[in-house]
This record gives sequence, structure tokens and C-alpha cells, in this order.
Amino acid sequence: MPIRFFNTYSRELEEFEPRDPAARPIFMYTCGPTVYSRAHIGNFRAYIFEDLLQRQLELRGYNVHRVMNITDVDDKTIRGARESGVPLQKFTEQFKQAFFEDTDTLRIKRANEYPAATDQRYIDRMIEMIATLISKGFAYLADDKSVYFRINKFPDYGKLAHFDLTQLQSTGRVKHDEYDKEHIGDFALWKGWDEEDGAVKWDSPWGPGRPGWHIECSAMATALLGDQIDIHCGGVDNIFPHHEAEIAQSEGVTGKKFVRYWLHCAHLLVDGQKMAKSLGNFYTVPNVLAKGYTGRELRYALLRVHYRVPLNFTWEGMNEARESLGRVDEWLGRLRQIAEKENVQHPTLINREQAPNARQPIKPGFENALDDDLNISGALGFLFETIRETNRAMDENKLDAASASACLDWWKRINTVLDLEAEVEIIVPPELEQLAKDREKARREKNWKRSDDLREQIFALGWEVRDTKDGPKLTRRASSG
Ligand code: AMP
Ligand code: ZN
Repeated sequence: MPIRFFNTYSRELEEFEPRDPAARPIFMYTCGPTVYSRAHIGNFRAYIFEDLLQRQLELRGYNVHRVMNITDVDDKTIRGARESGVPLQKFTEQFKQAFFEDTDTLRIKRANEYPAATDQRYIDRMIEMIATLISKGFAYLADDKSVYFRINKFPDYGKLAHFDLTQLQSTGRVKHDEYDKEHIGDFALWKGWDEEDGAVKWDSPWGPGRPGWHIECSAMATALLGDQIDIHCGGVDNIFPHHEAEIAQSEGVTGKKFVRYWLHCAHLLVDGQKMAKSLGNFYTVPNVLAKGYTGRELRYALLRVHYRVPLNFTWEGMNEARESLGRVDEWLGRLRQIAEKENVQHPTLINREQAPNARQPIKPGFENALDDDLNISGALGFLFETIRETNRAMDENKLDAASASACLDWWKRINTVLDLEAEVEIIVPPELEQLAKDREKARREKNWKRSDDLREQIFALGWEVRDTKDGPKLTRRASSG
């Protein structure tokens, strides 16, 4: 079954065909956080959807190269820095760090690159792109010393959003958008400096100023991934004007199709309204952790609904997430017991082909569902159905060790996509602690024979002792289950 995604550009499910699968990885660009405050869990719904997308492509054998930008200069960051009385970079740094912390808490795979808009490399690229747009007639310098994109010059403007040009409104991202422009929909590429910007300014052929938000992404995407990228993602609020503008700017400069597949996730809601900073109805990751939930539980709660369906955030939903994960944990615990016990007692009797009651190999229901536009509800439905069936077989003592191991292998594979396994706290049995201590003593006394014997005893019990700079450490042997 081919992989299909709903492309916002065509508003259709399309078979996924990477631009050049043989020669390079899938190039994926994901709009990242604006670091003027800690990201809320609505933002993280978008990042978790992107994480799921990347992991599913990797499960299917693709190599993915993902870029996520950090917007560290815009009206909000400048205002925040001014109000806190600190330089822009110092102000944004704390939120960048918080973003990475929350990313790790939610087990979101790190992108390959996190370019920051204020990096001189990208500022130079933005200026270069703006100059090209002016020379091609796509942009103009206005009386306020700002440069605007001339949307009437780009006939495809509005195609992504399926928008009528007469409906255009100001984006609110760059001040004074509505002045000095030829058309209300023209957006700022470069914003001429004014006193509210304080020390935040860069030199340009049009005088001192700073970039508009949209050109930041076009510059970073094309600088790092080239003229055409495979997949570009964000939340639905990014479709217009941000992504529409990205297309106009990038294609205006390169003359080539910028993005093959546009994927957007629906919003995380609170009481039916978008979770947003401006509405004050948001929770951050630490807010949720403070209520006693784990990052894994929040990951599950944000992941379990199809990305194109709005998801209402409730504490009840968090409890359901906890319950579902409890079922997974219990299932894994039972499987491990069977797999280990029988392996130890009858190590030579296991024969996958002949084992009585051995299950058929698990059907590819999980990955097939995800191939279908990341149908996570279908994939999780398949997982819980498998859990129900194997639990029933275990209740009736009908699941042998080989089948239990096969289930565990299957889980390991699908968990590369889900990343939902509980963190296990390794408890070292007291008798092993004692053996390790005895061995340490033998080593100190240079009784190498005894030390080696003890190491072997430890090994036979399924553990390994490693000598680290902090002293000997006991770990479970990889093959011991
Ligand atoms: P921002 O920091 O506002 O630029 O947003 C970063 C990302 O989060 C963008 O991809 C937005 O589309 C996305 N986003 C913002 N609010 C929500 C929400 N309530 N639910 C889902 N995604 C969101
Ligand atoms: Zn962007």
C-alpha cells in the first residue's frame, strides 16, 4: 500500500513520491517556535504530529533530514526584550532552552538542524532574496523604508489557502503593515528601523531594519534544503498568511516549485477554542507535569487523535492517556515474564515453527494505518486489539515463549514510531549488589582469580559489571530479556 498524505495545496489525498528518493534524504521543513515565551502544549501538538510523520517515514525505510527554525526576532520577541530590559538574544535564549527541555520531555526526536533567524548567515540570505525579488518586480521599497512583497505580481498567491485576494487582512506580525503599501495584502519582507526596535537592527541596501517573519522561513529553508523540499508542515494557522507568503517569496526567487507536500495539523483546543497565548487559555509542559502527569502521558494524549482533527485538551483526556498506557505496560510486563521464564526453563525446546499455539506473525495493521495519512487512531486501534487478543491467550495459558518474544519484537518495531515505553527504573537485587561488592574487594586485594569468578557468577545471573570512573556499575545483559 502506498503512503498517502492530505496535501493542503491540492486539498486531496496524494500518494507520497519524494523528489529524489535514490539520491538524498526526504527534506522536511517544520516551522518552529517563536521564542518570546515558553511554548504551550498546543504548539507541541504540532511538533508531535511532525515527529510522528518523521518516524513513520523512517519506519518505512526513508532517511529524513528535518529542519526546524527558531524565530528569535519579530514584534513579540522585540517587545518582550524591551519590557524585560534585556538584549534580544539574552531574552530569547531562556525560551530556546525551555523549548529543547520540553521537546525532550515529550520524546520528540531532535531535528537535524535548528537555524535561528538572527544568525548572520540567514540575515545575509534574506537580504539577498529580497534584493532578487525587487529586481524581478516582485517587491518594492515603500516610503516607510520597508520593503513589501507585491502580491498582484504573483498570480498563484492564495492558492495554498484557497483564498480570494479581496479577503486579505493584515498579519499583525510586522507593525504598520497597512501603511505605505500598494495593496492591503502586500506583506513586509524588510521592516525599516524605528525607535521601538531599539538596538535590534541590521544594515541593508534599504537602510537599517529587520526581516519580516515570512522571509525568515524562506531563507532558512532554501539555504539549508535547496530550492525544492519534499514536505513542509505547521499548524493550520500557518497556512495563511505565513506559508502562502513563503511560497510567493521562494518561488519568486527560484522560479521553481518550493514544496511538494504541505501538511498542516488542526489545533489543540480548550473548551472549543484554539489554545493560544493571546487568549490566555494555555498550559505549558511544566504546568502539566506539575499536576503529576508524565511527559510520556502528555505525548500520548497529544498523539492519539488524527492530526487533521481538532483535539480538545482536558484533564479527563490525560487520565485516559494514563489508563491506556497502563494497559500497554501491563501487557509488556506479562509478555516479558512468559518470554523470560520459558526461555530459562526450556532453552532448547523453543522452536518457532513447531511451538504449540504460536501466533501467526502480527499483520502489518499498525504501519498500514499510518501509511494512510497518519491514521493514528487506526494504528492504536490495531495495537489495542492485539493487546486484547494476546491477553486472552495469556489468560488461557496459550501463549508460548516464542510468541511472547515475537510480540515483544513487534512492539519494539512500532515503538520506534510511538516512543511510549515506560522508563524502567532498574532495581538491582541485593544478592547481586553483594556479589559486585565482593568482586570489588577481590580486585582491591589483587585476587584476580576470585574477581573473575565473581564476574562470571554475575554474568550467569543475567547481569554485567562494568568498571566506570565512578566505580563498578551493574547493568542487565542485553540478551537476558
Ligand atoms: P508560533 O510559535 O505561534 O509560531 O507557533 C509554532 C507552531 O505551533 C506553529 O506550527 C503553529 O501553527 C502551531 N500552533 C500554535 N497554536 C496551536 C494550537 N493551539 N494547536 C496546534 N498547533 C498550534
Ligand atoms: Zn515558518
